Amino acid sequence: MIRFEEVYKRYNGTAVVEDFSLEIKEGEFFVLIGPSGSGKTTTLKMINQLIHLSDGTIRIDGKRISDYDLQELRWNIGYVLQQIALFPNMTVEENITIVPEMKKWSKEDMKNRVTELLDTVSLDPEKYRDRQVSELSGGEQQRIGVIRALAADPDIILMDEPFSALDPISRNNLQKDVVELQHKLKKTVVFVTHDMQEAINLGDRICVMNHGKIEQVGTAEEILKHP
Ligand code: ADP
Ligand code: ADP
Repeated sequence: MIRFEEVYKRYNGTAVVEDFSLEIKEGEFFVLIGPSGSGKTTTLKMINQLIHLSDGTIRIDGKRISDYDLQELRWNIGYVLQQIALFPNMTVEENITIVPEMKKWSKEDMKNRVTELLDTVSLDPEKYRDRQVSELSGGEQQRIGVIRALAADPDIILMDEPFSALDPISRNNLQKDVVELQHKLKKTVVFVTHDMQEAINLGDRICVMNHGKIEQVGTAEEILKHP
């Protein structure tokens, strides 16, 4: 469970995230939506400490994020970005096993994990595991980006507009994949988008942000009823 308590982020005295308090439940698919510049990315990056808070507290399972060992915290939080941050000259398997490798998983465990993850996004493991990433299509690379974030079995996954660079068909397919994955694995997902349709398709709950503040939090139904 992720809990924000009166969180502020200021740059030169100007708040870009302001008095942000809410609780994201374990296993929930939580969407942050709002116009460009409303503070979504900043809010997301504070969870894995890529950005430091100016004020307030964020807790994961009751413990302040600043009290976690940073490496341990980041290993436990998968992170998927719009710009695919894969290593193009490495194979699919090498990309997926970066964190498991650091955590010193056995070769066999890593191989099994890659098979399992490729299966979940409908990529034939035997065909894809040894392919070089630079040879894959954008949609395929984004699938790898998503499952790489899951490789070491983190409890939380942060996604920052992961599909906005894709064509509508790949985007639709990946949305379905991600929802299916999340239902299967029961991860807590925090997903940033500026696309209301995407938010409605994906979110158990949606938080509407504007100028760094929470405008509304609720299910898609609730948000649509009281826009
Ligand atoms: P969003 O993800 O909703 O587009 P961001 O969280 O990226 O919004 O940015 C929120 C606001 O914070 C924007 O006005 C942005 O210009 C500002 N901002 C982000 N990073 C910095 C920074 N390092 N220094 C100053 N202002 C920043
Ligand atoms: P993202 O990872 O979402 O691209 P960035 O941190 O690159 O987020 O930037 C988010 C927004 O904050 C952008 O609009 C960018 O122009 C603005 N921004 C980033 N750094 C600064 C800064 N030092 N001063 C002012 N605005 C900034």
